[in-house]
Amino acid sequence: MFEKILIANRGEIALRVIRACREMGIKSVAVHSTADSDAMHVRMADEAVCIGPPPSGQSYLSIPAIVSACEITGADAIHPGYGFLSENANFVQIVEDHDIAFIGPTAEHIRIMGDKITAKETMKALGVPCVPGSEGGVADLETARRVAAEIGFPVIVKATAGGGGRGMKLARTARELDHAFQTARSEAKGAFGNDEVYIEKYLGAPRHIEIQVFGDGKGNAVHLGERDCSLQRRHQKVLEEAPGPTIDADTRARIGKVCAEAVAKINYVGAGTIEFLYENGEFFFIEMNTRLQVEHPVTEAIFGVDLVREQIRVAEGYPLSFTQDELAINGHAIEVRINAEKLPTFSPCPGRITAFHAPGGLGVRMDSALYDGYKIPPFYDSLIGKLIVHGRDRAEALARLDRALGELIVDGVDTTVPLFHALLAEPEIQTGAYNIHWLEHWLEKWLDRGQGA
Ligand code: ADP
Repeated sequence: MFEKILIANRGEIALRVIRACREMGIKSVAVHSTADSDAMHVRMADEAVCIGPPPSGQSYLSIPAIVSACEITGADAIHPGYGFLSENANFVQIVEDHDIAFIGPTAEHIRIMGDKITAKETMKALGVPCVPGSEGGVADLETARRVAAEIGFPVIVKATAGGGGRGMKLARTARELDHAFQTARSEAKGAFGNDEVYIEKYLGAPRHIEIQVFGDGKGNAVHLGERDCSLQRRHQKVLEEAPGPTIDADTRARIGKVCAEAVAKINYVGAGTIEFLYENGEFFFIEMNTRLQVEHPVTEAIFGVDLVREQIRVAEGYPLSFTQDELAINGHAIEVRINAEKLPTFSPCPGRITAFHAPGGLGVRMDSALYDGYKIPPFYDSLIGKLIVHGRDRAEALARLDRALGELIVDGVDTTVPLFHALLAEPEIQTGAYNIHWLEHWLEKWLDRGQGA
């Protein structure tokens, strides 16, 4: 059993992990930059260590600082949260070399899935359906033209090292391909130091459906259904729900089984998410995330399980605490990501919180590190909270979301809350008839009307 876990993260996800530790009787260690001395995760953990100055490169991404903090405090394991070092295979290797347990998959699995070309090849070999596209990387324009002609336009050029929606370029015609190919490569080089790209068929109106999987590292794995994360702005998720409004029980069982079997076969350990585009009843793999996702609470709500507790348990070597047959869906859950951003530009809006009130009541969960008087530093992600609602069905969850948003008070900074109020009035949101492009189109019209300003 772990006695002390260090959380290599900040904000709401650090609190999320601290909460699981406390319920399990495990001591927690927060790490923080000098900009976060007054942060909630520092106050809530059993111990805290300052690991560097505000820029994350010198603090939350500093491997020596984090490993030293483990050694100073005697922590026997690290939970990476999401973002920062959570998908850094080199970090995992170093942590393990120091005899500290990493709560997550092996360095090898992170490496395989962190490179999108290798990930796709691996998944394809495991029987997971993939987007039609190039076999591996595309090194030059001539090959790019040939591949695109074979699969047919439109195509998307994607960086193998890509993430956060960067390094992706759409080409609708052969003429657009040259530019897309070059810009995807140079963007990837600049952002990730790796200019390798590949080409995929561009799907016109898919939904983003992701399957939550969990492995014990010993050849056993289960799936916990899907999340629909189609509401995206600039390839970033804005609202997520589970189950997916268009996925029936048979479809879920079929794709879930494919995913669970795939991760079981590679002895995957811990939580993972296999992301698909879903169009005309077909699934197309795009990538696998080897960590806990921001949107994991919607899955927790409908299955009634604590995914962080489960991550800690399997990292300790315990078997999974549920079998596939024991996992049953109860109701519907929706999460909205609340960012400190100014509409209509969505530019970050750090600053002092002058009043904060979290909504409550049946089926409402607010994961946030805010408090009255807290000063949001300008150095990090603008996510300041996640509001998650759970109802007996989708209609009840939507009504509850509306009610809970009405109770939420965040004064002192601008937030994306007005966006959600407006979205809830839309028929497509009420019926679930949206795809990955719907939000961008809707936003254009909404902002044109001067809303959100
Ligand atoms: P990232 O790792 O940068 O998030 P993903 O491969 O997960 O990149 O893709 C992010 C989003 O980009 C998807 O959810 C989808 O909206 C869009 N996308 C990716 N691949 C395709 C494709 N082949 N066709 C259409 N849209 C795509």
